[in-house]
Amino acid sequence: MLVVMKPHASQAEIDAVVGKIREMGLQAHTIPGAQRVAIGVTGNKGGLDPGQFETLPGVADAIRVSQPFKLVSREVKEEDTILDVGGAKLGGPEIAVMAGPCSVESKEQILETAHAVKAAGAKFLRGGAFKPRTSPYEFQGLAEQGLKLLALAREQTGLKVVTEVMDVESLPMVADYADVLQIGARNMQNYSLLKQLGQVKRPILLKRGPSATLKEWLMAAEYVVSYGNYQVALCERGIRTFETMTRNTLDLNAVPVLKALTHLPVVVDPSHGIGLRKHVAAMARAGIAAGADGIIVEVHPHPDKALSDGHQSLTPDEFEGLMRQARVIAGAVGRQL
Ligand code: PEP
Ligand code: MN
Repeated sequence: MLVVMKPHASQAEIDAVVGKIREMGLQAHTIPGAQRVAIGVTGNKGGLDPGQFETLPGVADAIRVSQPFKLVSREVKEEDTILDVGGAKLGGPEIAVMAGPCSVESKEQILETAHAVKAAGAKFLRGGAFKPRTSPYEFQGLAEQGLKLLALAREQTGLKVVTEVMDVESLPMVADYADVLQIGARNMQNYSLLKQLGQVKRPILLKRGPSATLKEWLMAAEYVVSYGNYQVALCERGIRTFETMTRNTLDLNAVPVLKALTHLPVVVDPSHGIGLRKHVAAMARAGIAAGADGIIVEVHPHPDKALSDGHQSLTPDEFEGLMRQARVIAGAVGRQL
């Protein structure tokens, strides 16, 4: 249920509606909008009668929300959500560019990459310190040492740090260093982690599970939002299909479909999406053309020596070339970069 307040409803009227929802044992989520405040109601088992809200002072309308995901749906909030990451925006007219290595490997590697992607125009530095690797024998990340190196790179460049958190145990530590918490594809349906993310004061970049449907993915985002954190962006990173020539199949259908269904920003990860360095730029351009609000791209000063995902990492020069093309595409679809 969504209770839509009249444009000039007073704070007291809003508070009274919230109070009534809570008295019923339900949760109230106040959603400020440009025109009017709306209050999302969750926690009800069956359908609610709109009549019990429509008669309250200041209420314009009470609407049943048809989608199973409610708080993240456009039905509940029409305007795009724009995440403000210490002044760097995700959502809105400017395309957010996140770039950096798959894994933080050393001080030299992260600083060189950070300065290069900053010079090319990125506003966010990506890099994993806790790595979810398919094999237990592969590089697992530098853990807190990696987070410290990311913080150093932020200090030197002003870039905002995007880094993965893999579990509930390390969440407080990672949140201490990160500007944006990345939830990896393998953890998209880790519901205990999603619930904890609802309590964290950091924006979340929620990657799509390798075989998650759009509905499952939106429900995962709904977990984070319904537990209290409205700062969520979705990241399409490719899904598993029958195709073996590419690492994954980047589902660009997801971009316009999500933009219609949800107000959350949508980011495209062409690096994991295709998994082949020489084709990453094409898919990054395609993502922007499809309406993505941002891209996240793996960049490494020496991809052939990378400890993870070197085969899909761009060199700083290649990244700079991509940025030049991306600016043209952004302009063509009414965005800035
Ligand atoms: C990554 O960003 O390096 C990563 C592990 O991504 P994903 O979770 O999409 O596989
Ligand atoms: Mn990677």
